[in-house]
Formats: sequence, structure tokens, C-alpha cells
Amino acid sequence: MGRYTGPKCRKCKRLKMKLYLKGDRCYSDKCPIEGVRYVNPPGERPKRWFPRESPYGTQLHEKQRVKYIYGLRERQFKNLFLKATKSEGVTGEILLRLLEKRLDNVVYRLGLVMSRVEARQVITHGHIEVNGKKVNIPSYEASVGSVISVREKSKGIPLFSESLAHEIEVKDWLTIDRDKLEGKVIKEPGREDIEYSIKENLIVELYSK
Ligand code: SF4
Repeated sequence: MGRYTGPKCRKCKRLKMKLYLKGDRCYSDKCPIEGVRYVNPPGERPKRWFPRESPYGTQLHEKQRVKYIYGLRERQFKNLFLKATKSEGVTGEILLRLLEKRLDNVVYRLGLVMSRVEARQVITHGHIEVNGKKVNIPSYEASVGSVISVREKSKGIPLFSESLAHEIEVKDWLTIDRDKLEGKVIKEPGREDIEYSIKENLIVELYSK
């Protein structure tokens, strides 16, 4: 299955969580699901937006959420899961760590751009370097010590300075030098660094059937 290219906000509504797919709009009060309550106030008959889910549906839903957050295709996601199963440790957590270390996610987490979609764009257009070498593969896995920077000739692109002006909180496994447009991975991302309410065990259960 290909990458989802339809209306982004619809995906968030369908999966009942903010997936941060539209850049700065997601951080503003223009986000249509910002502050939405999914239950009626007390005293009113509760309205359910969607039919009750089966256990399989719940697991599938959880996988879809993670897939859309990180913008992966099914095949890419499955491959990453298989890689996680081969590593020592808790599979679900390793999967999330692998997702976090993707170059497109790192560029986004550094605040160089406002969404992972933009991150993929700037990477494939050749604006990003890792350890001084151009890398145009969004799935490239950054490791501890990797230095991620905007290429010299691309530093004038307004997108970077505009995004950095938002001063989005940078996770403590990363550092950023906003003047140099350069960041570094200083340690492995931990489970606590992933702020989304994801139940990764459901994804493991789904793929273990
Ligand atoms: Fe739309 Fe972003 Fe809000 Fe999702 S988080 S509903 S993509 S504005």
C-alpha cells in the first residue's frame, strides 16, 4: 500500500489523535481537533463517533496511527518491525526507537522544519547533510554522534529559519545549534521521549498473529 496522500486532518479525526501532519497549523488553534471532546457533557446521552472496535480493530488502529505519524508505507513499517524483532530488548520500544532515528524524524525533531512531510521533502531535494555528506534518503538511520546539518548552499532557504523561529522543544537526545542550522544525536532516544499516547504492545500483538 502506498503512502497516504489524502486530506491530512481527516486522518487525525479518524484515528482520534493529533498526528502532526500539517506543519505549523498543527501547533495553532486552527487544528480542528485541538481541544475537541469526544464525549458529550454529563447529563447528555453519550454519542459514539465510531462503532465499537474488535481487539483486532484496536490493534490495527494503533498501527495505523504510528504509520501515519511517521509517514511510512506498510512495507517500510513491516520491515522496521522485523528489524526490531531481531534486536535484543522490548520489541515495541525498539520499533519506536528505530522510527525516531529515521533521518526525516530527526530533521523534524530538531525543529529545522515543521512536519515530517517537510523533512522528507528537504532530504530528498538534497538540502541535508549527515556528518558532512549529503544524504537524500529519508529512512537513513541516524546514530549516536551523527551530526545533521543543512547544506551550506541551502542555508538561505526561508523554510529553515521560519521553522526554527518557532523554537519547538528539542528532545534531550538531540542538540541544536540554531545559528549554524546543525544538530547532533547525543544519545539513544528513550521511550519517554515519544510523547504520543501510543500502545506499541498492540502493534507487536498484531504482527505476532
Ligand atoms: Fe490537521 Fe495537524 Fe490538527 Fe492533525 S494535528 S488535525 S494534521 S492540523
